[in-house]
Amino acid sequence: MQRDRVLVTGAGGFIGHHLTKFLVAKGYWVRGVDIKLPEYEESPAQEFELLDLRRWPNCLQATRGVQQVYNLAANMGGIGFIESHKAEIMHDNVLINVHMLEAARLKGVERYLCTSSACVYPGYRQDTPDVTPLKEEHAYPADPEDGYGWEKLFSERQCRHYFEDYGLETRVVRFHNIFGPLGTYDGGREKSPAAICRKVALAEDGGEIEVWGDGHQTRSYCYIDDCVEGIYRLMMSGHRDPINLGQDRLISVNELVDLVAAAAGKRIRRRHDLTKAQGVRGRNSDNTSLRQVLGWEPQVSLEEGLERTYHWIESQLAEAGLLAQHRTTAVAAS
Ligand code: NAD
Repeated sequence: MQRDRVLVTGAGGFIGHHLTKFLVAKGYWVRGVDIKLPEYEESPAQEFELLDLRRWPNCLQATRGVQQVYNLAANMGGIGFIESHKAEIMHDNVLINVHMLEAARLKGVERYLCTSSACVYPGYRQDTPDVTPLKEEHAYPADPEDGYGWEKLFSERQCRHYFEDYGLETRVVRFHNIFGPLGTYDGGREKSPAAICRKVALAEDGGEIEVWGDGHQTRSYCYIDDCVEGIYRLMMSGHRDPINLGQDRLISVNELVDLVAAAAGKRIRRRHDLTKAQGVRGRNSDNTSLRQVLGWEPQVSLEEGLERTYHWIESQLAEAGLLAQHRTTAVAAS
Protein backbone atom coordinates (compact mmCIF):
# COMPACT_ATOMS: atom_id res chain seq x y z
CA MET A 1 0.00 0.00 0.00
CA GLN A 2 1.27 3.47 -0.91
CA ARG A 3 1.76 5.43 2.33
CA ASP A 4 1.08 9.17 2.65
CA ARG A 5 3.52 11.75 1.44
CA VAL A 6 4.64 13.77 4.45
CA LEU A 7 6.69 16.88 5.13
CA VAL A 8 9.09 17.09 8.06
CA THR A 9 10.39 20.61 8.67
CA GLY A 10 13.47 21.01 10.82
CA ALA A 11 14.61 17.73 9.25
CA GLY A 12 18.22 18.90 9.54
CA GLY A 13 17.79 19.19 13.31
CA PHE A 14 17.83 16.72 16.17
CA ILE A 15 14.22 15.51 16.51
CA GLY A 16 13.35 16.17 12.84
CA HIS A 17 16.19 13.95 11.63
CA HIS A 18 15.26 11.08 13.95
CA LEU A 19 11.60 11.46 12.96
CA THR A 20 12.53 11.36 9.26
CA LYS A 21 14.38 8.06 9.81
CA PHE A 22 11.41 6.66 11.72
CA LEU A 23 8.85 7.65 9.05
CA VAL A 24 10.95 6.42 6.12
CA ALA A 25 11.40 3.09 7.94
CA LYS A 26 7.61 2.91 8.31
CA GLY A 27 7.21 3.28 4.54
CA TYR A 28 6.28 6.95 4.24
CA TRP A 29 7.51 9.17 1.43
CA VAL A 30 9.21 12.05 3.25
CA ARG A 31 10.22 15.51 2.12
CA GLY A 32 12.65 17.02 4.59
CA VAL A 33 13.07 20.78 4.74
CA ASP A 34 15.52 22.86 6.77
CA ILE A 35 17.96 25.74 6.39
CA LYS A 36 20.75 23.21 6.93
CA LEU A 37 21.48 19.55 6.27
CA PRO A 38 21.69 17.14 9.22
CA GLU A 39 25.07 17.66 10.85
CA TYR A 40 26.10 14.14 11.82
CA GLU A 41 24.69 11.77 9.16
CA GLU A 42 22.87 11.90 5.83
CA SER A 43 19.07 12.30 5.76
CA PRO A 44 17.17 9.26 4.42
CA ALA A 45 14.34 11.56 3.20
CA GLN A 46 13.28 10.88 -0.40
CA GLU A 47 13.59 14.62 -1.03
CA PHE A 48 15.46 17.25 1.00
CA GLU A 49 15.08 20.95 0.27
CA LEU A 50 17.11 23.74 1.82
CA LEU A 51 14.52 26.47 2.45
CA ASP A 52 14.18 29.33 4.90
CA LEU A 53 10.68 28.83 6.30
CA ARG A 54 10.45 32.36 7.68
CA ARG A 55 9.66 33.26 4.04
CA TRP A 56 6.10 32.76 2.79
CA PRO A 57 6.87 31.50 -0.76
CA ASN A 58 9.19 28.86 0.74
CA CYS A 59 6.38 27.57 2.98
CA LEU A 60 4.12 27.21 -0.07
CA GLN A 61 6.88 25.31 -1.86
CA ALA A 62 7.54 23.05 1.13
CA THR A 63 3.87 22.06 1.60
CA ARG A 64 3.11 21.14 -2.01
CA GLY A 65 1.69 17.65 -2.60
CA VAL A 66 1.86 16.34 0.99
CA GLN A 67 -0.93 15.02 3.20
CA GLN A 68 0.75 15.57 6.54
CA VAL A 69 3.07 18.20 7.97
CA TYR A 70 5.30 17.62 10.98
CA ASN A 71 6.50 21.14 11.76
CA LEU A 72 9.71 20.92 13.78
CA ALA A 73 11.58 23.88 12.32
CA ALA A 74 12.43 26.42 14.99
CA ASN A 75 15.18 28.73 16.08
CA MET A 76 16.00 27.30 19.49
CA GLY A 77 18.58 25.97 21.90
CA GLY A 78 19.23 25.29 25.57
CA ILE A 79 18.42 27.68 28.41
CA GLY A 80 21.55 29.82 27.86
CA PHE A 81 20.51 30.42 24.23
CA ILE A 82 16.78 31.02 24.69
CA GLU A 83 17.29 33.45 27.58
CA SER A 84 19.69 35.61 25.55
CA HIS A 85 18.00 35.59 22.09
CA LYS A 86 14.37 36.38 22.90
CA ALA A 87 13.65 38.86 20.09
CA GLU A 88 15.29 36.71 17.42
CA ILE A 89 13.51 33.55 18.61
CA MET A 90 10.10 35.21 18.71
CA HIS A 91 10.60 36.84 15.32
CA ASP A 92 11.79 33.71 13.53
CA ASN A 93 9.44 31.18 15.11
CA VAL A 94 6.29 33.26 14.81
CA LEU A 95 7.05 33.76 11.10
CA ILE A 96 7.77 30.04 10.56
CA ASN A 97 4.62 28.89 12.40
CA VAL A 98 2.20 31.49 11.00
CA HIS A 99 3.36 30.86 7.43
CA MET A 100 3.57 27.07 7.74
CA LEU A 101 0.06 26.70 9.13
CA GLU A 102 -1.49 28.97 6.50
CA ALA A 103 0.46 27.29 3.68
CA ALA A 104 -0.70 23.86 4.97
CA ARG A 105 -4.30 25.07 4.89
CA LEU A 106 -4.04 26.52 1.37
CA LYS A 107 -2.37 23.35 0.05
CA GLY A 108 -5.08 21.11 1.50
CA VAL A 109 -2.86 19.35 4.05
CA GLU A 110 -4.94 16.88 6.10
CA ARG A 111 -3.01 16.85 9.35
CA TYR A 112 -0.52 19.23 10.95
CA LEU A 113 1.76 18.81 13.96
CA CYS A 114 2.83 21.81 16.05
CA THR A 115 5.86 21.16 18.26
CA SER A 116 5.43 23.05 21.50
CA SER A 117 7.36 22.90 24.73
CA ALA A 118 7.17 22.53 28.50
CA CYS A 119 8.36 26.18 28.41
CA VAL A 120 4.67 27.16 28.00
CA TYR A 121 3.99 26.30 31.65
CA PRO A 122 3.77 29.19 34.11
CA GLY A 123 6.71 30.18 36.28
CA TYR A 124 4.48 30.25 39.38
CA ARG A 125 4.00 26.46 39.15
CA GLN A 126 7.73 25.74 38.83
CA ASP A 127 9.36 27.66 41.67
CA THR A 128 10.46 24.71 43.81
CA PRO A 129 12.65 21.66 43.04
CA ASP A 130 9.95 19.45 44.58
CA VAL A 131 7.51 20.52 41.88
CA THR A 132 4.00 19.13 41.25
CA PRO A 133 3.99 17.45 37.81
CA LEU A 134 2.49 19.73 35.16
CA LYS A 135 -0.88 18.82 33.70
CA GLU A 136 -1.84 20.21 30.31
CA GLU A 137 -4.50 22.54 31.76
CA HIS A 138 -1.87 24.15 34.03
CA ALA A 139 -0.65 26.28 31.11
CA TYR A 140 -3.31 28.87 32.06
CA PRO A 141 -3.48 31.47 33.56
CA ALA A 142 -0.46 32.07 31.35
CA ASP A 143 3.00 33.06 32.61
CA PRO A 144 5.25 31.09 30.25
CA GLU A 145 8.99 31.41 29.67
CA ASP A 146 9.39 35.02 28.59
CA GLY A 147 10.10 34.77 24.85
CA TYR A 148 10.32 31.21 23.48
CA GLY A 149 7.48 30.12 25.82
CA TRP A 150 5.12 32.93 24.74
CA GLU A 151 5.78 32.13 21.09
CA LYS A 152 4.97 28.44 21.65
CA LEU A 153 1.77 29.30 23.52
CA PHE A 154 0.70 31.61 20.68
CA SER A 155 1.40 28.88 18.09
CA GLU A 156 -0.58 26.30 20.07
CA ARG A 157 -3.51 28.70 20.17
CA GLN A 158 -3.25 29.38 16.47
CA CYS A 159 -3.56 25.62 15.76
CA ARG A 160 -6.72 25.45 17.84
CA HIS A 161 -8.28 28.27 15.82
CA TYR A 162 -7.25 26.74 12.48
CA PHE A 163 -9.23 23.66 13.46
CA GLU A 164 -12.22 25.64 14.76
CA ASP A 165 -12.38 28.05 11.81
CA TYR A 166 -11.07 25.91 8.90
CA GLY A 167 -11.33 22.28 10.04
CA LEU A 168 -7.58 21.68 9.65
CA GLU A 169 -6.71 18.70 11.87
CA THR A 170 -3.99 19.96 14.17
CA ARG A 171 -2.00 18.08 16.82
CA VAL A 172 0.02 19.86 19.49
CA VAL A 173 2.83 18.21 21.43
CA ARG A 174 4.65 19.71 24.43
CA PHE A 175 8.11 18.16 24.66
CA HIS A 176 9.89 17.86 28.01
CA ASN A 177 13.72 17.83 27.55
CA ILE A 178 14.33 15.41 24.71
CA PHE A 179 17.87 14.05 24.48
CA GLY A 180 19.85 11.42 22.61
CA PRO A 181 22.56 10.78 20.02
CA LEU A 182 22.80 13.05 16.94
CA GLY A 183 21.80 16.12 18.98
CA THR A 184 23.81 19.32 19.29
CA TYR A 185 26.40 18.94 22.05
CA ASP A 186 28.50 22.11 21.67
CA GLY A 187 28.46 25.61 20.21
CA GLY A 188 26.01 27.26 22.64
CA ARG A 189 22.66 25.73 21.62
CA GLU A 190 23.14 22.41 23.43
CA LYS A 191 20.83 21.37 26.26
CA SER A 192 21.86 20.16 29.72
CA PRO A 193 22.18 16.36 29.08
CA ALA A 194 24.37 16.88 25.99
CA ALA A 195 26.42 19.62 27.65
CA ILE A 196 27.04 17.45 30.71
CA CYS A 197 27.99 14.45 28.54
CA ARG A 198 30.50 16.63 26.66
CA LYS A 199 32.02 18.04 29.85
CA VAL A 200 32.31 14.61 31.46
CA ALA A 201 33.85 13.15 28.28
CA LEU A 202 36.46 15.92 28.27
CA ALA A 203 37.23 15.56 31.99
CA GLU A 204 39.83 13.27 33.49
CA ASP A 205 38.76 10.50 35.86
CA GLY A 206 38.59 12.32 39.22
CA GLY A 207 38.35 15.68 37.45
CA GLU A 208 35.93 18.57 37.84
CA ILE A 209 33.19 19.98 35.58
CA GLU A 210 31.25 23.23 35.68
CA VAL A 211 27.52 22.91 36.45
CA TRP A 212 25.10 25.79 35.82
CA GLY A 213 23.28 26.91 38.98
CA ASP A 214 23.46 25.08 42.31
CA GLY A 215 22.46 21.80 40.64
CA HIS A 216 19.39 21.37 42.86
CA GLN A 217 17.10 22.49 40.03
CA THR A 218 15.01 19.51 38.83
CA ARG A 219 13.80 18.26 35.44
CA SER A 220 12.61 15.11 33.68
CA TYR A 221 14.37 13.84 30.54
CA CYS A 222 12.99 11.80 27.65
CA TYR A 223 15.01 9.68 25.22
CA ILE A 224 14.67 10.45 21.50
CA ASP A 225 13.33 7.02 20.42
CA ASP A 226 10.38 7.48 22.79
CA CYS A 227 9.90 11.00 21.48
CA VAL A 228 9.45 9.95 17.83
CA GLU A 229 7.21 7.03 18.81
CA GLY A 230 5.04 9.43 20.84
CA ILE A 231 4.89 11.98 18.02
CA TYR A 232 3.73 9.31 15.61
CA ARG A 233 1.10 7.96 17.99
CA LEU A 234 -0.22 11.46 18.60
CA MET A 235 -0.38 12.21 14.88
CA MET A 236 -2.43 9.01 14.35
CA SER A 237 -4.76 9.83 17.25
CA GLY A 238 -7.87 12.03 17.26
CA HIS A 239 -6.55 14.23 20.08
CA ARG A 240 -6.49 17.95 19.20
CA ASP A 241 -5.62 19.52 22.56
CA PRO A 242 -1.99 20.04 23.60
CA ILE A 243 -0.40 17.00 25.23
CA ASN A 244 2.79 16.44 27.26
CA LEU A 245 5.43 14.16 25.78
CA GLY A 246 8.20 13.40 28.25
CA GLN A 247 9.25 11.19 31.11
CA ASP A 248 7.80 11.78 34.57
CA ARG A 249 10.89 10.79 36.57
CA LEU A 250 12.07 13.93 38.35
CA ILE A 251 15.80 14.30 39.02
CA SER A 252 18.12 17.14 39.96
CA VAL A 253 20.86 18.37 37.65
CA ASN A 254 23.38 17.14 40.25
CA GLU A 255 21.88 13.65 39.97
CA LEU A 256 22.02 13.94 36.19
CA VAL A 257 25.75 14.65 36.41
CA ASP A 258 26.19 11.57 38.62
CA LEU A 259 24.32 9.38 36.11
CA VAL A 260 26.46 10.63 33.23
CA ALA A 261 29.62 10.07 35.30
CA ALA A 262 28.43 6.50 35.97
CA ALA A 263 27.83 5.97 32.23
CA ALA A 264 31.37 7.23 31.60
CA GLY A 265 32.86 5.12 34.40
CA LYS A 266 34.52 8.25 35.88
CA ARG A 267 34.58 9.95 39.26
CA ILE A 268 33.56 13.56 38.63
CA ARG A 269 33.49 16.57 40.98
CA ARG A 270 30.98 19.39 40.38
CA ARG A 271 31.86 23.10 40.44
CA HIS A 272 28.67 25.21 40.51
CA ASP A 273 28.49 28.51 38.64
CA LEU A 274 25.60 30.45 40.15
CA THR A 275 25.86 33.23 37.56
CA LYS A 276 24.76 30.95 34.70
CA ALA A 277 21.15 30.59 33.45
CA GLN A 278 19.29 27.72 35.06
CA GLY A 279 15.65 28.29 34.06
CA VAL A 280 12.78 27.31 36.34
CA ARG A 281 13.56 25.72 39.72
CA GLY A 282 11.66 22.50 39.04
CA ARG A 283 9.73 20.93 36.15
CA ASN A 284 8.10 17.57 35.66
CA SER A 285 5.57 16.14 33.24
CA ASP A 286 2.21 14.76 34.36
CA ASN A 287 1.66 11.86 31.95
CA THR A 288 -1.93 11.01 32.86
CA SER A 289 -3.22 12.40 29.59
CA LEU A 290 -0.40 10.81 27.58
CA ARG A 291 -1.24 7.36 28.98
CA GLN A 292 -4.98 7.80 28.42
CA VAL A 293 -4.82 9.23 24.91
CA LEU A 294 -1.96 7.21 23.43
CA GLY A 295 -2.29 4.05 25.55
CA TRP A 296 1.47 4.24 25.92
CA GLU A 297 4.24 6.08 27.72
CA PRO A 298 8.02 6.46 27.24
CA GLN A 299 9.90 3.19 27.72
CA VAL A 300 13.63 3.90 27.66
CA SER A 301 15.17 4.42 31.10
CA LEU A 302 17.23 7.51 31.79
CA GLU A 303 20.28 5.33 32.53
CA GLU A 304 19.96 3.53 29.18
CA GLY A 305 19.37 6.75 27.24
CA LEU A 306 22.31 8.53 28.89
CA GLU A 307 24.58 5.55 28.28
CA ARG A 308 23.83 5.68 24.52
CA THR A 309 24.06 9.48 24.39
CA TYR A 310 27.29 9.69 26.37
CA HIS A 311 29.05 7.12 24.19
CA TRP A 312 27.90 8.85 21.00
CA ILE A 313 29.18 12.27 22.19
CA GLU A 314 32.42 10.73 23.43
CA SER A 315 32.97 9.08 20.02
CA GLN A 316 32.28 12.41 18.25
CA LEU A 317 34.87 14.16 20.41
CA ALA A 318 37.34 11.35 19.84
CA GLU A 319 36.78 11.51 16.08
CA ALA A 320 37.43 15.26 16.13
CA GLY A 321 40.68 14.56 17.99
CA LEU A 322 39.43 16.54 20.98
CA LEU A 323 39.72 13.85 23.61
CA ALA A 324 43.35 13.08 22.91
CA GLN A 325 44.18 16.77 22.59
CA HIS A 326 42.46 17.56 25.88
CA ARG A 327 44.25 14.77 27.69
CA THR A 328 47.62 15.85 26.32
CA THR A 329 46.99 19.41 27.53
CA ALA A 330 45.89 18.15 30.94
CA VAL A 331 48.97 15.97 31.28
CA ALA A 332 51.25 18.81 30.16
CA ALA A 333 49.66 21.13 32.72
CA SER A 334 49.93 18.72 35.63
P1 NAD B 1 16.91 21.61 16.51
O1 NAD B 1 17.46 22.98 16.71
O2 NAD B 1 17.87 20.47 16.51
O3 NAD B 1 16.07 21.55 15.17
C1 NAD B 1 15.36 22.65 14.67
C2 NAD B 1 15.70 22.78 13.21
O4 NAD B 1 14.96 23.89 12.65
C3 NAD B 1 17.19 23.09 12.96
O5 NAD B 1 17.78 22.11 12.14
C4 NAD B 1 17.18 24.43 12.28
O6 NAD B 1 18.17 24.60 11.28
C5 NAD B 1 15.79 24.48 11.68
N1 NAD B 1 15.39 25.86 11.39
C6 NAD B 1 15.60 26.95 12.15
N2 NAD B 1 15.19 28.05 11.50
C7 NAD B 1 14.69 27.64 10.30
C8 NAD B 1 14.15 28.32 9.19
N3 NAD B 1 14.03 29.65 9.19
N4 NAD B 1 13.75 27.60 8.12
C9 NAD B 1 13.91 26.24 8.11
N5 NAD B 1 14.44 25.54 9.13
C10 NAD B 1 14.83 26.25 10.22
O7 NAD B 1 15.80 21.42 17.65
P2 NAD B 1 14.97 20.12 18.07
O8 NAD B 1 15.39 19.78 19.44
O9 NAD B 1 15.03 19.09 17.01
O10 NAD B 1 13.50 20.75 18.17
C11 NAD B 1 12.46 20.48 17.23
C12 NAD B 1 11.17 21.15 17.72
O11 NAD B 1 10.85 20.68 19.03
C13 NAD B 1 11.23 22.67 17.82
O12 NAD B 1 9.97 23.22 17.53
C14 NAD B 1 11.53 22.88 19.29
O13 NAD B 1 11.14 24.18 19.73
C15 NAD B 1 10.71 21.79 19.92
N6 NAD B 1 11.16 21.41 21.27
C16 NAD B 1 12.29 20.66 21.45
C17 NAD B 1 12.66 20.30 22.74
C18 NAD B 1 13.87 19.46 23.01
O14 NAD B 1 14.08 19.06 24.16
N7 NAD B 1 14.71 19.13 22.02
C19 NAD B 1 11.90 20.71 23.85
C20 NAD B 1 10.77 21.47 23.62
C21 NAD B 1 10.40 21.79 22.34
